[in-house]
Amino acid sequence: SVAPNDLEAFWMPFTANRQFKKAPRMFASAKDMYYTTTDGREVLDGTAGLWCVNAGHCRPKITEAIREQAGELDYAPAFQLGHPKAFELANRLAALAPEGMNHVFYTNSGSESVDTALKIALAYHRVKGEGSRFRLIGRERGYHGINFGGTSVGGIVSNRKMFGTLLTGVDHMPHTHLPEKNAFTRGQPEHGGDLADELERIVTLHDASTVAAVIVEPLAGSTGVLVPPKGYLQRLRDICTKHGILLIFDEVITGYGRLGAPFAADFFGVTPDIMTTAKGLTNGVIPMGAVFVKDEIHDAFMNGPEHMIEFMHGYTYSGNPIASAAALATLDTYEEEGLLTRAGELAPYFEEQLHSLKDCPHVIDIRNMGLVGAIELEPIAGEPTKRAFNAFLKAYEDGLLIRTTGDIIALSPPLIISREEIDILFDKLRKVLMNNI
Ligand code: PMP
Repeated sequence: SVAPNDLEAFWMPFTANRQFKKAPRMFASAKDMYYTTTDGREVLDGTAGLWCVNAGHCRPKITEAIREQAGELDYAPAFQLGHPKAFELANRLAALAPEGMNHVFYTNSGSESVDTALKIALAYHRVKGEGSRFRLIGRERGYHGINFGGTSVGGIVSNRKMFGTLLTGVDHMPHTHLPEKNAFTRGQPEHGGDLADELERIVTLHDASTVAAVIVEPLAGSTGVLVPPKGYLQRLRDICTKHGILLIFDEVITGYGRLGAPFAADFFGVTPDIMTTAKGLTNGVIPMGAVFVKDEIHDAFMNGPEHMIEFMHGYTYSGNPIASAAALATLDTYEEEGLLTRAGELAPYFEEQLHSLKDCPHVIDIRNMGLVGAIELEPIAGEPTKRAFNAFLKAYEDGLLIRTTGDIIALSPPLIISREEIDILFDKLRKVLMNNI
């Protein structure tokens, strides 16, 4: 056994605490917009955990639903059998989803949702007699989780390179079609030329009839909040439709209200064929994801027994009762409190405050959409990411949680944030940026 204060024994990979074994940063509890650290300090959550705690922390309704479900039916086998809450949740999700997406596949994470979506796309073409469609196209700077499928289609080369081929037949659209810097643009940038032509070019290069699916985050989150130019997603939709290619939106971050509509598909008015979600589905409390599929796609390979045998897919914990109960209580909370549209109401004020940081030292770009914001900092020569990491540490010390990726600070507060809390967030951040980072 190990002593609780023997931090060496609790060494874990990939935590920021690795460098700080003597003074680790740990949370002991949380309520609504705030975390409390193990040393008793309050930290305003500027990131909704990891873009997931959309309704704020430890919401009684969600906590109670989990408690109740755990005491009533803890587990039901995911195959052949079931339980009513998984069905109830599927109905609720179908009602929330864009028109014509009435089928969901349950998963346990964003990464699993992405792998599920890619397999569904390949299975669909196969049963339609188009098995020659095997190529998957992602986007540079896209993030789709960390499983094999998501690592392959993801656009972060450093995440892929040590694994060699991963999935074959994967290509990536250049990210130049999403202007990396919006030069302090407010809202959605204008279409910077016919940027989606990159997709047309790649599709033509490979022979369109070999391409199965294109996967994009409607707004690239984890890699630095890259806002799509006007018309871009519609152009992708048109190109995919023209060539019989399925369009997958990875809505793991944008799903459940982040942009001010239930999904980015609603926000942009562009409906994909498949949509991946996770995070906000259960308010980040219990692992669960859901992949939404257009009826036509579902029916093509799930309505005949022979296809169902070929397409074996599901997890031990798919539609788990406790996760389903958490998701239902989360949806209730979103709906009762108007949280699925609240980001839209707060966006102008959030944008105003965010852009007021424009003249702080080292700020070279600001981007935002809904309740997502990014502040890009000028890198220190030879020490990439150091400035943003300094900002993270100073913010944390001053009671504010921000997320950094490279030299970019990302903000995605819980959707319950008040105007006063937005003021506190940006006051703290201004202090950090003015403090010689
Ligand atoms: N897709 C997107 C767009 C994401 O942002 C993430 C996580 N940040 C994932 C997939 C992976 O989700 P998870 O970490 O739950 O596997």
